[in-house]
Amino acid sequence: MRLYNTLTRREEEFAPARDNTVRMYACGLTVYARGHIGNFRTFVAVDLLRRALKYEASFGVREVVNFTDVDDRTILESQKAGMPLREYTAQYVTAFERDAAALGLEPVEENPRATDPENIEAMGETIKALERNGHTYRSDGSIYFRISTLPDYGKLARLDHDGMKSGARVDADKYDKEDARDFVLWKETKPGEPTWDPGIGPGRPGWHIECSAMALRLLGPPPIDIHAGGVDLIFPHHENEIAQSEGATGTQFSRFWFHVEHLMIDDEEKGEEKMSKSLGNVFNLEDIVQRGFRPSALRYLYLGVHYHKQLRFSWTAMAQAEEALKRITDFLARLAFVEAATRRPDEAGCPGPSAVEGSRPVIATQLDDASKAFSARIADDLNTAAALGVVFDLVRALNTSIDNRELDKADADAVRQTFERFDRVLGVLSLRRAEDEKPPVPVDEIDRLIEARKAARLARNFAEADRIRKDLDARGILLEDTGSTTRWKRK
Ligand code: AMP
Ligand code: ZN
Repeated sequence: MRLYNTLTRREEEFAPARDNTVRMYACGLTVYARGHIGNFRTFVAVDLLRRALKYEASFGVREVVNFTDVDDRTILESQKAGMPLREYTAQYVTAFERDAAALGLEPVEENPRATDPENIEAMGETIKALERNGHTYRSDGSIYFRISTLPDYGKLARLDHDGMKSGARVDADKYDKEDARDFVLWKETKPGEPTWDPGIGPGRPGWHIECSAMALRLLGPPPIDIHAGGVDLIFPHHENEIAQSEGATGTQFSRFWFHVEHLMIDDEEKGEEKMSKSLGNVFNLEDIVQRGFRPSALRYLYLGVHYHKQLRFSWTAMAQAEEALKRITDFLARLAFVEAATRRPDEAGCPGPSAVEGSRPVIATQLDDASKAFSARIADDLNTAAALGVVFDLVRALNTSIDNRELDKADADAVRQTFERFDRVLGVLSLRRAEDEKPPVPVDEIDRLIEARKAARLARNFAEADRIRKDLDARGILLEDTGSTTRWKRK
């Protein structure tokens, strides 16, 4: 498997350093708001990488995706909401878990929250190691990393050393692009802010130290194999993670750096820009569903553009993604009909169409070629867009075979298995199937409405009871009364 490595700016052959298991860390959501579909572009790309490593390259994977539940923004927003930090952020952790499942993300091995006591402890240990190694200084109650103490600071972002301002401090978690300054590790807490003391004095973590500490604690010893995130994190976040981790351990932090390009959106006045909460141009999964699209269509949209290229979001692009996905699912539905309708002469004892007898090796070769081509595209730096091209070529060819009555049941089974194999990486067909199987109205809502209808009938409010029945009917749910019990089924 070849992967582009931001550290070397080259595509390189990838294999884990130890035990055939990939140790991988992806920066997770800052839980001050619900994740938007820009964030999920990155998370889906990391999920595709995970699946490719597992199902195509046959490596084990141990993956950590954190929740950044303490930083400038989470503190500010929890204060505005008048809620304790952990309680405030918990609602967005839950929303993330729901959205991630709806988009078909495989659960990962660890989802630590920065404020878990063992992580705060690990941050304290990392900072103590940095102090011992002479990389820090204290000023105005905070602890800073002095970038001039690390000669190769800037190696990931390829920073111009003349532009570095060692000695000039920055307290904010995010700062200007390519303006390298000493950054804060441990911040003095202001009145009313949450505070901890893991043996380095009271304060609260800077954003960068959180990821270094969680990655080293859960995936160490360094180097880990892959560190992932959106391109906006290369500088300063990932550069500073390297500085902290390598400054503390004296060993390379991560061998590969995997960065996902942005999801962009058109603004009528400003033109195309990154989808970002701070720009106020975000959509989340609920907005997608409210527009009548299913999460599987969004996942398909992500798959259609290589992760190294910007992805332009629009409702037209969503409609096209839905159409393309439907072409595959329509083909699979057609295949089911072939499976049910035709028999090989030897199976059913009656002769099939004359072309069938010779078709099997032809189909087998076609499937084998497509499988190999699919794997080659995925192994080529996770080129899902090209892999989908292979899938469509196969759909086209096999539709013609069906038109010519050249497929029989055994062929159709082999075709289905090939598509299942593709989908272990793509994760979009199984997602669509799961959506199809789910009732169009949540089950607890149906139960609640059945109870409400029962109560209305008891109160002899038949108009209301009828309204509830019709409302559910319009949403695809049929109610059936037998005696005093009511059952429901999909229309
Ligand atoms: P944040 O919650 O801001 O820490 O971001 C979580 C992840 O989403 C990070 O890996 C970001 O780089 C990524 N991200 C943020 N905005 C976008 C976007 N518009 N397109 C793709 N990834 C993004
Ligand atoms: Zn991070």
